[in-house]
Amino acid sequence: MDWDEEAEQIAEMLPIPPMMGPYARLQAEKIARHNGLDRVTVDAVRQTEDIYREFIGDEKTEQLRAFIQGTGPAPEMEDELFFENEHALYNIEVCFTKYGENTKTVREALKDMKRSVELLLEEENVTEIMADLAPVALHGASRFNVVLTGCPNCCVSPYMRDFGIIMQHKVDITDQECTRCGKCLTMCIDNVITLTEKGPDIDVNRCALCELCARDCPTGTLVVQERGFQVVTGGTGGRHPRLAVPVESFVTKDRVLAILRKALGLLRTAHSGENLGKIIERDGIDALR
Ligand code: SF4
Ligand code: SF4
Repeated sequence: MDWDEEAEQIAEMLPIPPMMGPYARLQAEKIARHNGLDRVTVDAVRQTEDIYREFIGDEKTEQLRAFIQGTGPAPEMEDELFFENEHALYNIEVCFTKYGENTKTVREALKDMKRSVELLLEEENVTEIMADLAPVALHGASRFNVVLTGCPNCCVSPYMRDFGIIMQHKVDITDQECTRCGKCLTMCIDNVITLTEKGPDIDVNRCALCELCARDCPTGTLVVQERGFQVVTGGTGGRHPRLAVPVESFVTKDRVLAILRKALGLLRTAHSGENLGKIIERDGIDALR
């Protein structure tokens, strides 16, 4: 699709994380198409900016704007959320929250969890466990893979890994007056919020515990009071792909670590070539509880 020159210039300066740049262009083209246009205009790029602001939040948007315009430092990358150790047979992936889309509270909780997981994996000597389980020469696929995500959107999928830790956020409705702005309805992609005369109502049985509605509620009518973790395990790709299955939901960090310790105990006595998925298939998920 063609772009107006000014639209191109504004798109170059959009305050979004670098890896989202190409997607933002597609978003602008989508908006143009939906407006019946065959070229991207300044208006479509402005609407794109609004959509991404809603997605990554005001704080990060303004940091990125200042950086791009040369009036502020590069947005802080959370070094502690990256993992790299080629001498270990395990890997820890953390969701894109490392680029700052999530709130500071969530980033801090993930950093804390990552540190504890790493310590536990070292303490239990997972490198030796995985080395002993490997039926062929040790290589990247011999590793024990852990994924941590800041919300159930799971941008980095825990469902194809050995052990997934998904942060969950319970949203409560407070007495603060709702202005019926509708932001929560936009943010809830599962459509589980209804706006009544008295304010918002959440179908808790269908709520994904993602906190997006509370993050954007301007009045404090919707707030997160409690956070927990869901543990999923047994996922793998390769010759016999399998999706990870839930072990427990809305548990504390200590409970997550207890489940991880138990999982490593099962692997320690497993047969060569086995993984958590095979163990669960054989012994059932209760082996981990
Ligand atoms: S926390 Fe629940 S109600 Fe709120 S946006 Fe997520 S799914 Fe919707
Ligand atoms: S975002 Fe908050 S103030 Fe706006 S409609 Fe939803 S609950 Fe009400």
